[in-house]
Amino acid sequence: MNNVFIYCELTEENTIADVSLELCSKGRKLANDLGVKLEAVVIGNVDETIAEQLKPYGVDTLHLANDKRLSPYTTMPHAAIVCELFRQENPEIALFGATSVGRDLAPRVASELRCGLTADCTSLEIGDHSETKSGKEYKNLLYQIRPAFGGNIIATIINPETRPQMATVREGVMKKETVANAGNISVKNVDVNKMVSPELFAVEIIERHIEAQKINIKNANIIVAGGYGVGTKENFKLLFDLAEVLGGEVGASRAAVDAGFVEHERQIGQTGVTVRPKLYIACGISGAVQHRAGMAESATIISINTDANAPVNQIADYVINGDIADILPKMIKYYRSNSK
Ligand code: FAD
Repeated sequence: MNNVFIYCELTEENTIADVSLELCSKGRKLANDLGVKLEAVVIGNVDETIAEQLKPYGVDTLHLANDKRLSPYTTMPHAAIVCELFRQENPEIALFGATSVGRDLAPRVASELRCGLTADCTSLEIGDHSETKSGKEYKNLLYQIRPAFGGNIIATIINPETRPQMATVREGVMKKETVANAGNISVKNVDVNKMVSPELFAVEIIERHIEAQKINIKNANIIVAGGYGVGTKENFKLLFDLAEVLGGEVGASRAAVDAGFVEHERQIGQTGVTVRPKLYIACGISGAVQHRAGMAESATIISINTDANAPVNQIADYVINGDIADILPKMIKYYRSNSK
């Protein structure tokens, strides 16, 4: 069986992007399950020292395409390198971030190599499959798991015949974990001139404008999240007050964002960010599957809801059955007077 490959993106500072390190962590586990190696692909204007950033995540081999024309990302040269590398190495599995780069690159690679691609997976596992009609047995396939049909089902998608089995995953969905006693990482330099013909560099980036992210709730330890049940933009002030006394951030459901209560950057869930705080306080959130996809792995969940049967209560550690307008002011008052 061949290896697991991760396409690693670079940040503006030329470090490996978090989403790629998260995928390396997941890739390491998948490679262990399959008894194969984990390989990373880095394409850009970086030297071999970048391997040091990947080593703690258990990457065995780095394929490094280093050329100043490869940074910033442009579609054609990156796609040419990944396709050629995959033709040579024939990976079993290839994972990309569900970022603007990954969403541009992965479908091109899948189309060129005539293999399937599952976008925005929320879970990846190894498993077997037996074909009902033919009775054919497939061992150790990649289960590409994601909500489908508006979140009404969780689909498990497989590619029994084609390789690589490809998937994209959003930032924050997989957990970034280093491995104990990571082994050595070997670096294989890609011959860029051999893989990319000059005409593929036809697109030149002349000017770039980068806007810094103003709100980042991804790494907050405490999140006070509000849903449609909060009622108004003004009522959200209660959540900001509670978050402030607790030293946390404010998150929201899509219904709250769509209603204009808070900014889109605060949206948690399948089409927002994925968070894993130590404490998640869900205020007036019903707990639709698309919302839970982004917060179910929080260490402790408190739900405040007027409906005792709200689905979010099923995954909550504590449920406060009541109106946020009554409960939040009491919590703010209590924490204000009791925090140091
Ligand atoms: P509601 O479902 O309307 O729930 C409001 C809750 O507030 C209820 O449980 C109610 O009992 C409670 N309530 C009302 N008044 C009070 C009060 N005064 N005090 C306390 N509780 C009160 N949703 C996301 O959140 N994130 C996503 O990323 C996301 N992506 C999606 C992607 C797709 C493809 C689709 C189809 C949907 C997506 N959704 C997403 C939408 C999702 O299906 C739900 O519609 C949404 O999460 C509902 O938000 P809500 O819980 O705030 O609102």
